[in-house]
Amino acid sequence: MQEKKKMNLGVKILIGLVAGIIVGAIFWMAMGADAAGAFTAKYIKPFGDIFVNLLKFIVVPLVLLSIMDGVISMGDIGKVGKIGWKTVAYFLVTTAIACIIGLIVANIFKGAFPVLSLAEDAAYEAKSSNLMDTIVNIFPNNAISPLSTSSMLQIIVISIAFGCGILVAGDKGKPFGDFITSFNEVTQRVMGFILALSPYGVFALMVWVVAAQGPKILGHLGLVLLAAYIGYIIHVVLVYSLSVKVFAKMSPITFFKKIFPAAAFAFTSTSSVASLPITKECCDDMNVDTEVSSFVLPLGATVNMDGTAIYQCVAAIFLAKCIGIDLTLTQMIIIVVTATLASIGTAGTSGAGMIMLAMVLDAVGVPPTYIGIIYGIDRLFDMGRTALNVVGDASCAVCVNHWEGNNNA
Ligand code: ASP
Repeated sequence: MQEKKKMNLGVKILIGLVAGIIVGAIFWMAMGADAAGAFTAKYIKPFGDIFVNLLKFIVVPLVLLSIMDGVISMGDIGKVGKIGWKTVAYFLVTTAIACIIGLIVANIFKGAFPVLSLAEDAAYEAKSSNLMDTIVNIFPNNAISPLSTSSMLQIIVISIAFGCGILVAGDKGKPFGDFITSFNEVTQRVMGFILALSPYGVFALMVWVVAAQGPKILGHLGLVLLAAYIGYIIHVVLVYSLSVKVFAKMSPITFFKKIFPAAAFAFTSTSSVASLPITKECCDDMNVDTEVSSFVLPLGATVNMDGTAIYQCVAAIFLAKCIGIDLTLTQMIIIVVTATLASIGTAGTSGAGMIMLAMVLDAVGVPPTYIGIIYGIDRLFDMGRTALNVVGDASCAVCVNHWEGNNNA
């Protein structure tokens, strides 16, 4: 019965996605991009926004409680450290590989990228972020404000600290631990109610994207978009298929089939964090132990962004070429390092990767204001990179699950 319900949700999301593309294309053909974009943004997108709002609302209690509960359920502090290191190592290695793939693909395409005579059209107000500030800001100076501002990295620090506190407190911590476990269970149920709405949310967002963005992907921007998507696909086929097969002893086909609802949702919502409830549901379906998924997935949704890393590398090479800079090998290495860090610092929300791109551009001397060149189609990059980010988190969860001696579906 439970199995049937999960399958139905995946199929319904797919139907929502396809129907959204068709209806969006009809709007675009009937009204033209500008009018269709304005109309759908006003009358159809708000239904998608309602759904995304509900997901954002549930995400803070979900991350806070599920990580705490995940830590508590591990039973001893040594195990938390063991799973933690494996997870972080997996995240870092796959993200660094993602950067290298992004750079190789972008360099292959580089010859076809244009040198532009620029242009006020690059009028983007870039917010460059300082690396040290990003690191310092992971640690909260207040227990309440991270919850009200949804600062996910800070919430993760709070959850791990309190989870470990409960374990170390032994018998005295047990009543609080039981309360957290119960609260977490209730939160999961509320999340289930919200998830049931996902096909409709996906439909509404997809109609809007297709109606508004259709023709803008032509020309040079289409080329850089293509480069990014080739990078995304190579990463999925090469890295995730292999890691799932080798480390999780799982058929990649099964893995991709089971993670599809989360990837489809991430593709339309462009938020790893908002996709978290669905990613968790898909991992449950793959028999990933709750103590693993409760820890790995919220952490991954916040720090593991392979798609974002690929995008940042491709975009950096593209924008450098646009303004006539030919990057050296040393600069490419700088890109790998900064894009890995920038993707970790990227929040799992819509458009965040583009803001952190400023940090990568800064590091190689490309003025971040030129992000304006690709600003208009960021959502199209974001859809693919978020789907990849989410699949990457799930691939880590199945690998860690296997390393911990559990069997995946
Ligand atoms: N939207 C992405 C995510 O939520 C982050 C990004 O903009 O790259 O994973």
